[in-house]
Amino acid sequence: GAAPPGRSAALRARMEERLLAARFRYINQQLYTSTSREAAQLFQSDPEAFEIYHRGFAQQVGRWPENPVHRIIRYLRRRPASLVVADFGCGDCKIASSVRNKVHSFDLVPLSPLVTVCDMAKVPLADESVDIAVFCLALMGTNLQEILEEANRVLKQGGTLMVAEVASRFEDIRAFVNAMAQLGFKSVSK
Ligand code: SAH
Repeated sequence: GAAPPGRSAALRARMEERLLAARFRYINQQLYTSTSREAAQLFQSDPEAFEIYHRGFAQQVGRWPENPVHRIIRYLRRRPASLVVADFGCGDCKIASSVRNKVHSFDLVPLSPLVTVCDMAKVPLADESVDIAVFCLALMGTNLQEILEEANRVLKQGGTLMVAEVASRFEDIRAFVNAMAQLGFKSVSK
């Protein structure tokens, strides 16, 4: 027999949620396994993919005990507001809208008017123009080296790079830190 209407609506909603979650995981995996240029093409050719990705992202992070972007915001608030920040893969610009610093916010699609749309492998900033570069859950793309070199280019000497990433995304964190040292970054805290 047919389920009562209330129950079938709830079932349908639950299944739609699951489909969305699955599409988020699929797109997320695509972003971590393709180059940043391919990611740009994906979101250009399929704007819906970006919307689904961001809904899924917010849902997932909402289930974590702490959202790393909040920790980065707390850190920035303890440091001088005169420091210039670049937020690579800024999403909905939580950093820019929470601190007094000048924040350059970069993403592939503008979720907020504060976003400068570009591929984070090539940002429209001068050499040595920022004090703090941030990758919060955004260090994706197989051309990681190119992306980190771009962060290095725009950072001032002695500037700070902050990376927040899910531990399971690293094959070997020590190897990552060593590779970062070769790019000119000294590990200050982990
Ligand atoms: N930093 C934000 C959003 C993280 S989600 C936060 O913590 O809330 C990852 C973001 O990186 C997404 O908005 C995605 O669009 C962006 N992104 C992925 N690849 C990118 C690229 N090549 N260039 C710019 N942004 C990119």
